[in-house]
Amino acid sequence: MIVMKFGGTSVANCEAISRTISIVQSKLAQKPVVVVSALSKVTDLLYKISDQAAKKNTAGAVELLDQLRSRHIGLAHDLMAETPSFCHDACSRINDICDRLDAFVGAVCALGELSDRSKAVIISTGEYLSSNIICCAMNSKGIKTGFMDARTMIITGNDYLKGEPDMAAIAEKVPGVVSEAYDGNDAVITQGFVSATSDGEPTVLGRGGSDYSASLIGMAIDASVIEIWTDVDGVRTADPRKVENTRCIERISFEEAAEMAHFGAKVLHPLTIEPAVKKNIPIYVLNSMNSEGKGTVILQSSFIEDGVKSVSFKENILVINIFSTKMINTSGFLKKVFEIFSINKVSVDLISTSEANISVTVDSSQNIDKVVEQLSEFADVYVDSDKSQISVIGKNIINLKGLLSRTFAPLADCKIYMISQGASYVNLSFVVDRSELTDAVRQIHKYLFENESCN
Ligand code: ADP
Ligand code: ASP
Ligand code: MG
Repeated sequence: MIVMKFGGTSVANCEAISRTISIVQSKLAQKPVVVVSALSKVTDLLYKISDQAAKKNTAGAVELLDQLRSRHIGLAHDLMAETPSFCHDACSRINDICDRLDAFVGAVCALGELSDRSKAVIISTGEYLSSNIICCAMNSKGIKTGFMDARTMIITGNDYLKGEPDMAAIAEKVPGVVSEAYDGNDAVITQGFVSATSDGEPTVLGRGGSDYSASLIGMAIDASVIEIWTDVDGVRTADPRKVENTRCIERISFEEAAEMAHFGAKVLHPLTIEPAVKKNIPIYVLNSMNSEGKGTVILQSSFIEDGVKSVSFKENILVINIFSTKMINTSGFLKKVFEIFSINKVSVDLISTSEANISVTVDSSQNIDKVVEQLSEFADVYVDSDKSQISVIGKNIINLKGLLSRTFAPLADCKIYMISQGASYVNLSFVVDRSELTDAVRQIHKYLFENESCN
């Protein structure tokens, strides 16, 4: 069996879904488990709907809900114009889902209070809509496709918006659900991103979480490969939206891919690699608009050569500087500091320390108010915003002579705030002013990759 995950742009409209279905059709012999995201931009729309509901703006919410329904109904008609009975089935599923969402959002509007649980219900609707339409469209094209509700198999803890997967429960449930749905069918389909607690309470895996769903399912069914179909020709030497002349990387290690994703490369959800590593399942990153391309394969490190593979960045980070004269030679100080981050579930990226100071970077999407308040009880705390973090990633980069000079040479006029090289020798990261980011990333990319061939 293989897992094939299609992201938002691969299911954005009739043309993209038709391409996606042809790709699945070409792989039926490998028994695909298809995982789909919401149509492009739909999750953003659902976030806006929940914001309107929280503000008790019923009229605003209704307008957006109507857009949601009409985009999906229009799509079903485009996709299944020649097979009215399948189109009818798809439309009644869409109307059911949208009717339930309308009622749910109406209730939230009336209350004017949006819990994380309610938000999880709202923002997961996009994947239910897309998976139902695509299931009907696949059946209309003669691919007998079984439907699976991800909430019956992707089990998490009760953090509703960033559910932490219960690996044992997932490994236990997925094979049964998949084999039941496969009975007499050519393929099966389910929602990415969507999950539930063991009591069936709705949760989601966090933004971009469909990649993670795919690898969790791959792990649970011992898939031979996990394919992540997206809108670029594989993993590239940098984000092609920011940097010109990026190249496709033919193969990278699980560790390199995990670092890239964790340090900002949006092409994969940061946790995607972990389940695949457990079973040593290769992950392919492929372009649904160029299905003949080789893409990138992510493999065990022993198959991968040393060297710089890519430059990633996080555009908007915070640097938290913690000063305390009591720190020097005091055992337990670091423990006390990091306990505060841990209790508040704020994850730290880079750390550097000096005699009386600890600086850490955190993603700006995290709420650090409580962390700052609690740290301030025993230290002086300053938060620098408008900073960006750049990471040069590659296996054993410590062995590369001149890496530091090659990385920093183009940044002669740029202020560098923190530098950190992980003990894994895979990652060299540093912090610059946000205003310098684009130029810095472009310069470093040019310098590091100019004369190297890739692919
Ligand atoms: P999907 O909707 O298929 O999940 P995403 O938008 O989440 O797609 O991820 C694909 C995007 O990731 C690409 O369009 C690209 O702009 C961005 N990206 C960032 N860094 C990289 C990289 N190093 N290699 C390839 N793509 C990258
Ligand atoms: N639809 C979700 C999002 O936009 C999950 C995903 O696409 O991976 O975040
Ligand atoms: Mg994505």
